[in-house]
Order: sequence, then structure tokens, then C-alpha cells
Amino acid sequence: MLIDTHAHIYDPQFEDRETMLRQAAGEGIGQIWMPNCARETVEGMMELASAYPDRCLPMMGLHPCYVSESVEAELAEVENRLHRSRFIAVGEIGLDFYWDMTFVPQQFEAFRVQLQWASSLNLPVSIHSRSGHDRNAFAEAADLIEQLALPNLNGIFHCFVGTADEARRAIDLGFKLGIGGVSTFKNGGLDKVIPEIGLEHLVLETDSPYLAPVPYRGKRNEPAYLRLIARRVADLKQVSMELVESQTTTNALTLLKGIPTL
Ligand SMILES: [Zn+2]
Repeated sequence: MLIDTHAHIYDPQFEDRETMLRQAAGEGIGQIWMPNCARETVEGMMELASAYPDRCLPMMGLHPCYVSESVEAELAEVENRLHRSRFIAVGEIGLDFYWDMTFVPQQFEAFRVQLQWASSLNLPVSIHSRSGHDRNAFAEAADLIEQLALPNLNGIFHCFVGTADEARRAIDLGFKLGIGGVSTFKNGGLDKVIPEIGLEHLVLETDSPYLAPVPYRGKRNEPAYLRLIARRVADLKQVSMELVESQTTTNALTLLKGIPTL
């Protein structure tokens, strides 16, 4: 069984959601973890979570690209929901310097508050860190996590595309690296990083509907393509597909800290 640790399968692009889920099951994708974005995505996500309670597992959080004037109301809702229902993680949360820099101070505040909630609820986090405008979002996210030094904090640096040194820093902070479609891109850079990093630190993700792996690059991504990413990791590490499958699944399940899932 493989676990897709990050997929926005509630996205309106998945009109064919039953087919998409059947294909994922056919490829042995046993669980799909769903990161939330903002208030507007909660309903679709929770619908999937209740229709497929063993397969589609929800997170709760405010995505940095959705941080705006309404950040306080958005965070109040995240906090409220975190206390009301069961989620596997706080996510996705973090820093995005790629698009708009207007709300970067609020992004930091939202990130800090949500890290604290994860720590106090003993939930892992799914971190989005996208660099831009000459600022390294991974480094600034890691700096904040280091400064806060929160108890029980762990999780995934989702869509990890950093250097080997950055990978080691994430691991030292107690995090796993979420490896997705970028690992299959010729210019993705991960071909130099993945061979350096132990398999015990990696989890797999599609980030559907974004970042489809080769040969679907540029098309809509879906969880069924996770096997292409696993294959790429096996090739880069020169190990068997079976080992990648069992180790990354174990790594993902370890993060769930005793929440009964399988
Ligand atoms: Zn995402």
C-alpha cells in the first residue's frame, strides 16, 4: 500500500471523483491525506472524508496563499474545527513568497499560531514553503520552527524541493520530506538530493491536482500517479519498489502518532 500524503482531491477539477478514487485504489493507494486551504474548501473536503472515512483523511489549517484581510476570522474557524472534529494533521500551513508579498507578516503570524495549536493538540503539520522575491521560504520556516522549539512538533515539509543541506536541516528538526512530481522533472534538482537522504525520512505525495509527474507533466494530477513518484524514488536510490512502498508507508503512519487509521 502507498499513502498519498498530500492531495487536494476536493478540488472542483475532480468532477469524476469516483473514477479518480477507483483508479487510485487500483494502483494500491490505500490512504489519501487531504490538506485544507481555507474556509471555502472545508465543505468539499469533509464530504469526501465522511464518504470515505478509511481512505480520505482530512487535515485542518489555513494555507499561506489564503492569508488576507480576513486572517483572524479564518484562523478562528480553523481553531474551532480543530477542537470539534478529528483531523490527522494541521495543514497546510506555512509561508509563500512566490505570489503576493502583501500579507507576509500575517502569514508568519498564522503559521506561528497554527504550529502552536499542532503542538498542543499533538498533531503533525503539513508545511508549505515556497520561495520567491529573493527570499527562501524553507529557511525562514525552519528558523521559525527552531525559535519556537515547541514540544511534540513534527510533520512534513510538503513538496520538498530544497538542497541536501536543507533536507538534513528538516530532518534534524524532526520532519519528513514530502516527495512529489518535481522528483520526476529533468530540471527539478531532486535527482541530486534524494540519493543523499535515507529512505526513512521520505514520504510520498502527489499534491493533486497540481505538479503531475512525468509523463503527465502539465496535466491534471491525481493520486493514481503516486506510483510514478515511488518508481522514481526507487530508481534514484537504487532500491526496489517494494522497499520504497513499505518504508514510505511506515514513515507516513509513524507521523499519525497513534491515531487509529488502518
Ligand atoms: Zn497543497
